[in-house]
Amino acid sequence: MHYNYSIETKSLYIHWPFCPYKCHFCPFVAMASQDHFMHDYYQALIAEIEYFVHQCGRKMPIDTIFIGGGTPSTCPEPLLLDMFGKLRTWFDIVPGAEISIEVNPGTVNQSKLAVWKEVGISRLSVGVQSLNDEVLKKLNRLQSKDDVYQLLPQAKALFDNLSVDLIVGLPGVSNDEWRKTVNEVASWPITHVSVYFLSIHENTPLYFGVKAQKITLPCEDEVVDLYYWTSQTLKNNGFNQYEVSSFARPGYECKHNIVYWERKPYKGFGLGACSFDGARRFQNQKNLSLYLHEIHQQKESIIFSEKLTRKQIYLEKIMLGMRRSTGIALSTLLEGLTQGEQDKLTEEITRLRDNNLIILHNDHIILTVAGLAVENEIVVKLSL
Ligand code: SF4
Repeated sequence: MHYNYSIETKSLYIHWPFCPYKCHFCPFVAMASQDHFMHDYYQALIAEIEYFVHQCGRKMPIDTIFIGGGTPSTCPEPLLLDMFGKLRTWFDIVPGAEISIEVNPGTVNQSKLAVWKEVGISRLSVGVQSLNDEVLKKLNRLQSKDDVYQLLPQAKALFDNLSVDLIVGLPGVSNDEWRKTVNEVASWPITHVSVYFLSIHENTPLYFGVKAQKITLPCEDEVVDLYYWTSQTLKNNGFNQYEVSSFARPGYECKHNIVYWERKPYKGFGLGACSFDGARRFQNQKNLSLYLHEIHQQKESIIFSEKLTRKQIYLEKIMLGMRRSTGIALSTLLEGLTQGEQDKLTEEITRLRDNNLIILHNDHIILTVAGLAVENEIVVKLSL
């Protein structure tokens, strides 16, 4: 199964899997102590992109690029300069395109920031997570709050659009400390905040630590309360919530993420990268040696592909739409349903509205604050 090369693809994701350390909570395709593979990986990445361009046979206009990881801020400057030279030859990157890079504090210097600016990167997504050095150290995230304090003014001098990631529910962070952190972050000269719940992913050191009762997680109800407090505090400070985890100053919503949530096509390149062509989803090989080998041999390295069924499409619409503050258009949801399914859905929507879990506004279904807390159950109720 192949990506539909004739589809209008306006968003690219580029994966850089190398990290300076491996955080104990990390579920991503990322690796530490493998930097000696960076150059080989870069060659494969470029070969993969070039193959895609060749298959498309035209210079496609691109609105958003997201360089994610891993830790893309460890990408050597010459490689990044070379990559953007090629991207601008192969694609028509439109003026004003949103080009984001994920950044770990402690991996950046002035010269890197200058190169990012030079190649046209317009948005930095900074993984702050916490300002408690001890907590981060225990999770093997080897950055300090001083790294953050050093980075922010340097970054702000060159980039208007700065986003900060935080994790709520990290073990060892008291409620008061979390509130202090959020108040501080809200006062920074940034445009966007993402707040994620700590998730325990199987087979991570955090998972084993919790299982062996060496690590105690904060009480779930308290974390949910902290999340609501955070959401309100960020709103009070001028950050609009436009998705469950995402808060932006007006006009600074992440365009690339909106492409994902609106189920528009995007092409991902690199280790473990995912793609969607409007009908099919793909994932690249996650094993570095196999990825390098397969790209070398056949220019593509896909471990998973599927054509979405009607039910999967419907479920994606609900799951992605419900997370957004604009909700999901009822007409979009009803598209393609049988009369019986439409009747069942309409009944369920009425029930949820009567229970104050959703509201209907301009033909859009939007979760209420009470609904947000039971989002997963609502998704199940609205499933076919
Ligand atoms: S820096 Fe990010 S990608 Fe790398 S190990 Fe930590 S959480 Fe994972």
